[in-house]
Amino acid sequence: MDVKIAKTAGFCWGVRRTVDKVMEVADQHRAPVVTLGPIIHNPQAVARFSEKGVGTVMGIGEVADGTTVVVRTHGAVREELERAEARGLEVVDGTCPYVKYPQAMAQRLSREGYHIVIVGDANHAEIKGVISYSEQPCTVVKPGGPVPEIKAKKVAVIAQTTCIGAEFERVVGVLALRHKEVRAVNTICNDTEERQADARALASEVDAVVVVGGKNSANTRHLAEICRAIQPRTWHVETEAELEPAWFDGCRVVGLSAGASTPDWVVEGVASWLRALR
Ligand code: SF4
Repeated sequence: MDVKIAKTAGFCWGVRRTVDKVMEVADQHRAPVVTLGPIIHNPQAVARFSEKGVGTVMGIGEVADGTTVVVRTHGAVREELERAEARGLEVVDGTCPYVKYPQAMAQRLSREGYHIVIVGDANHAEIKGVISYSEQPCTVVKPGGPVPEIKAKKVAVIAQTTCIGAEFERVVGVLALRHKEVRAVNTICNDTEERQADARALASEVDAVVVVGGKNSANTRHLAEICRAIQPRTWHVETEAELEPAWFDGCRVVGLSAGASTPDWVVEGVASWLRALR
């Protein structure tokens, strides 16, 4: 079967940078190395790191003295970094610069008296990190969810880096009619927009779409939603082991898109399986 792979499928710039950093630290350090939370949202990549001796902890409380801690692409909660510093642990910051931007804006604008509104998933590690930089209480609006009443004259709206542009626009629009001053800071990552545009174009050209990436990866799930809205025969899988031949009955061309945290070798595994299908 013909397989059309999206130009942007696989690791984004930020993930590649962090993964390279972890590999470099693992090669150079004799001391144990751990990542603060799974380094990226891809179980297959995390398994490869653990083969290299890089462990994962969920908090600084779990880290033994003398261990090097790598901060993941999504960033970390500020208090955790302060705890690491107080203990004298070596910290290597792998936070993507595009994630550092909403963290910095949350801090700066909350200091300037704005009530911070974040469009994103409150349970996502990136958003927990961003919230921790705001120096005042802030509000998280879930994409597609209601925009609550906020008692503040000035609000500043920022977005999860993987937020769909239309959702950011919707929340800014609702708030603009309610508050005297609304400051919108578009913190959506360009990679996400390009990847989503690419996936949209791909879904309209093929008979079915496979989106590859961790089930725990927000940007991969968004890609699958975008493709499914255009091409109902869209499947989100982590590896080729989940694919079923019957899903592709009558298909001539299958499109393949992948999240920003999906390693190239996982994308290639799925592509090879599809190419071999008759
Ligand atoms: S998708 Fe964008 S924000 Fe997220 S890690 Fe990649 S480059 Fe950074």
